[in-house]
Amino acid sequence: MAIATINPATGEIIKEFEPLTEAAIAQKIELAQRTFESYRYTSMEQRAAWLTAAADLLDANKETYGKLMTLEMGKPIAAAIAEVEKCAWVCRFYAEHAAEFLQDTLIETDASHSFVHYQPLGIILAVMPWNFPFWQVFRFAAPALMSGNVGLLKHASNVPQSALAIEEILTKAGFPEGAFQTLLIGSDRVAPIIADDRVKAATLTGSEAAGASLASAAGKQLKKTVLELGGSDPFIVLDSADLEAAVSTAVTARMLNNGQSCIAAKRFIVQESIAAAFAEKMTAQFAALKVGDPMHPDTNVGPLATPTILKDLDAQVQACVAQGARVLIGGQPLAEFPSANYYPPTILTDLPLGCPAYHEEFFGPVALLFQVPDLNAAIELANSTPFGLGASAWTQIDQERDRLIHELEAGAVFINGLVKSDPRMPFGGIKRSGYGRELGAEGIREFVNIKTVWVK
Ligand code: NAP
Repeated sequence: MAIATINPATGEIIKEFEPLTEAAIAQKIELAQRTFESYRYTSMEQRAAWLTAAADLLDANKETYGKLMTLEMGKPIAAAIAEVEKCAWVCRFYAEHAAEFLQDTLIETDASHSFVHYQPLGIILAVMPWNFPFWQVFRFAAPALMSGNVGLLKHASNVPQSALAIEEILTKAGFPEGAFQTLLIGSDRVAPIIADDRVKAATLTGSEAAGASLASAAGKQLKKTVLELGGSDPFIVLDSADLEAAVSTAVTARMLNNGQSCIAAKRFIVQESIAAAFAEKMTAQFAALKVGDPMHPDTNVGPLATPTILKDLDAQVQACVAQGARVLIGGQPLAEFPSANYYPPTILTDLPLGCPAYHEEFFGPVALLFQVPDLNAAIELANSTPFGLGASAWTQIDQERDRLIHELEAGAVFINGLVKSDPRMPFGGIKRSGYGRELGAEGIREFVNIKTVWVK
């Protein structure tokens, strides 16, 4: 894939970049290693000051960075600006809490003094996707830098200017040269970088295929990975739910980022008695969404990020329809935008067993609507995919809530609310959605040496 900014709302090539040469990659790894050797001894207070300065830069330039993301991958501008604000939040959160998360933990044993001590590992490689071009990177960078590690970023090939902007922000904020560097490289360069002795671990957010490829390359070198992969999140609505709130949250949850979010609700599992009303209300709200130019502040749904995503999503929809699914709204790419990647808000229902809706992730504005007789059937259907990222469930009954919390196979369960990431809470999946956690105290402890110390 060429490294280039291509406006998904027009198909226009805005800027192309040459991938780094082998010599340039080697220089950057060398610089990262040299920087680590001194950076690891900087104080928590110093790192926190730099990270707070990065937060200030993000806040001060949120419109500029928001527009850059919208230009490169098509998310509605209001959401892009909100994403920059969230990056400032995660920087401030770790600036404030990293010292507490990484302080020595005393443990009484037969020693006179025993404790757990946390130390940085070195260079961490981050392979990141285009869908939240700033957020995915900052939620890695903030804890990694606070813990004394240094970062190398291989960002998705369609968001090179976002990748360069992030390096610039962290450098301007005061982090030493080499503490965080962007590598403009194709995915074929990732395995050799992981094989380098100086690179100690890697994190990847992206597809299952990319995750498996990175994990096997890292596994050969016995290096740790964190993987944040795809999802086909269920959104369960039971009889007792507040239907109005559930429907409007369902629409927001599905349309997040033009439908291209790992934790977007994708399968809507609704109890029989309210299924018709839910479908009717959801269809009406989908029909009212404004699809169009993502730079326009009133736009709800912009274009998909690339023509391939559009093609793949449409193929999944057509496969379901060919097997007997019914289209309530949408169902075809929008003909009035031939050179752009617009797909209309779509709802599929009466999904026949075995169609892609049961086992694939639909990465775009397509809601898959299922009807179930009771809670048991809802949980069984929710758990019947290879994924396990997030789950949202709606009920007013305590016993139902408790069963949903305990029985849903997911890294996160949200009751009567939308699944979202929050710097204060760990984030990650199970099953084919990946392993390891980002954010919270758990996130900052993924890439540290958890050293056991025993002194007699
Ligand atoms: P993708 O193709 O896997 O790309 C993600 C990153 O991996 C890009 O930087 C890509 O580089 C790189 N990559 C691709 N193949 C690789 C390989 N064989 N070895 C090493 N690196 C490789 O993902 P996508 O389709 O663009 O992104 C959407 C997916 O990400 C969805 O499945 C979504 O659910 C998932 N996602 C998960 C989370 C989460 O937190 N769990 C968050 C956001 C997205 P190139 O661009 O150069 O190919």
